Amino acid sequence: MSTLQGQMMDVQLLVSALLRHADYNHADTEIVSRRLEGDIHRYTYSEAAVRIRKMANALEAFGLKRGERAATLAWNGYRHFELYYAISGIGSVMHTINPRLHPEQVAWIVNHAEDRILFFDITFAPIVDAIADKCPTVQQWVAMIDPDKMPEMKNVTPVSYEDFIQAQSAAYEWPELDENAAAALCYTSGTTGNPKGVLYSHRSLVLHTYAACLPDAFGVDATDVVLPIVPMFHVNAWSLPYVGALAGVKLVFPGAKLDGESVCELFENEKVTISAGVPTVWLLVLQYLQQNNRKLSTVKRMTVGGSACPPALMKTFKNDYGVQLEHAWGMTEMSPLGTYNHPKAKHLQLSEDEQFQARLSQGRAVFGVEMKIVDDKGNRMPQDGQSTGDLHVRGPWVVDRYFKKDESPLVDGWFPTGDVGYIDPDGYLTITDRTKDVIKSGGEWIGSIDIENIAMAHPAVAMAACIAARHEKWDERPLLLVQIKEGQSVTKEDLLKHFEGKIAKWWTPDDVLFVDSLPLGATGKVQKNKLRDEYGDHLLKQPA
Ligand code: ADP
Repeated sequence: MSTLQGQMMDVQLLVSALLRHADYNHADTEIVSRRLEGDIHRYTYSEAAVRIRKMANALEAFGLKRGERAATLAWNGYRHFELYYAISGIGSVMHTINPRLHPEQVAWIVNHAEDRILFFDITFAPIVDAIADKCPTVQQWVAMIDPDKMPEMKNVTPVSYEDFIQAQSAAYEWPELDENAAAALCYTSGTTGNPKGVLYSHRSLVLHTYAACLPDAFGVDATDVVLPIVPMFHVNAWSLPYVGALAGVKLVFPGAKLDGESVCELFENEKVTISAGVPTVWLLVLQYLQQNNRKLSTVKRMTVGGSACPPALMKTFKNDYGVQLEHAWGMTEMSPLGTYNHPKAKHLQLSEDEQFQARLSQGRAVFGVEMKIVDDKGNRMPQDGQSTGDLHVRGPWVVDRYFKKDESPLVDGWFPTGDVGYIDPDGYLTITDRTKDVIKSGGEWIGSIDIENIAMAHPAVAMAACIAARHEKWDERPLLLVQIKEGQSVTKEDLLKHFEGKIAKWWTPDDVLFVDSLPLGATGKVQKNKLRDEYGDHLLKQPA
């Protein structure tokens, strides 16, 4: 039976449309960047658009074809922003690479993606030197720096970004591409095995950007000043470079200086209203603010995601600095946004403490993302706020297949996230763990996130990680690894006492080990697999 077709224009959803929108409607809104050259660079969306069109011409002159990949190893900055739009805009694929990965892994990714040209910030020149002769597909290396500041390199002769675009015309007509064409590529950080490529389409990026702007997500408007600390080299900085253009916000890029002082200086000087980053970043910013007795006068909200937001961190920012930390959850395979925590009207009637509690979960699904919790047989579990199982998702910006992989990761058309949690009747998701980090004690599951959050609420604790340690009787038991704040101290006994009444007794860690620092991965998360390798047998070695 034929259906009556709608009669609206079949205009394709394209990344270039976001730029054109900003160029026409927010021409004089600023984009500010801290540069490796040492200064602060500022220009407008319309000036950016001119350089992006020049870059589009330069890429075509170089011979980059539709569907071919162009890579970046770069900090957050205006040149990186330009590449986001130029590469995708001409129909090629913007491939961001995480420079915190080991050079071997970077080379593996470049080869897997068959990148034809690679743009890099000079901080990463040593990586480029190390991988150059292992990456035969790369025909051009471009240093994202002024020509007079070019690095000395051993194995490549890069061209300066400015020289690369200098002779090009600023006239360029963005092609009408198929919205399902590939636009961007990002590899998961792959704690085990090789990284997997997630290939975003123009359509998925534009739809995701619309959703990310919603009041119950980033909630930005044209009066906002947004500073993405989350890197443009991983999952498109949670889409903020696209959000900026759609909403016409002033963007502030921090470059390589991500220490508390430099970030807070930009917050104040540029009157930043909204920022976003992983919890470890906010812990550092907080330390700086506390140690230097500083305040934040313009920041209203900071999005926290990538790993669970410690409640103590959220409380301190709210009470001492008037900044609301907003919890969001997502992943590379979801572009990344899945859920975002904003209150509903009924929450506003609650006491302050109850409202704070409501803020702690990972939040509600953003429209476009469907979620379900399934048991080990794949049956949907009730959305009752306690039935805990594997989290599966689907939606137009969720991965269907990994780049160059034939087998589908999907189960019944849903993507298994590898996260474990529950959803309450209001739709709020709580992640209790990652499947591979769950502690299985005598057949029962213990979620490590709860234990870490309680530990981090202790005033002497800077960071904590709870891992499964092998146990003779119970198979696995929780072992807590703790990094103490500078100048503070606490005993194991006192720390364990701190758990009393906050958690079921059998969830209390069997032991606490104090460490100088916790190993962080390429996206700023504690590497629990490393900790398991090192400390997994700790309890077996204990006297019975
Ligand atoms: P990778 O660390 O492999 O690069 P991503 O950066 O895509 O992967 O991270 C996705 C994972 O990070 C999620 O599956 C989840 O386990 C974790 N994560 C992201 N946001 C949160 C959050 N708000 N709370 C708890 N875990 C989170």
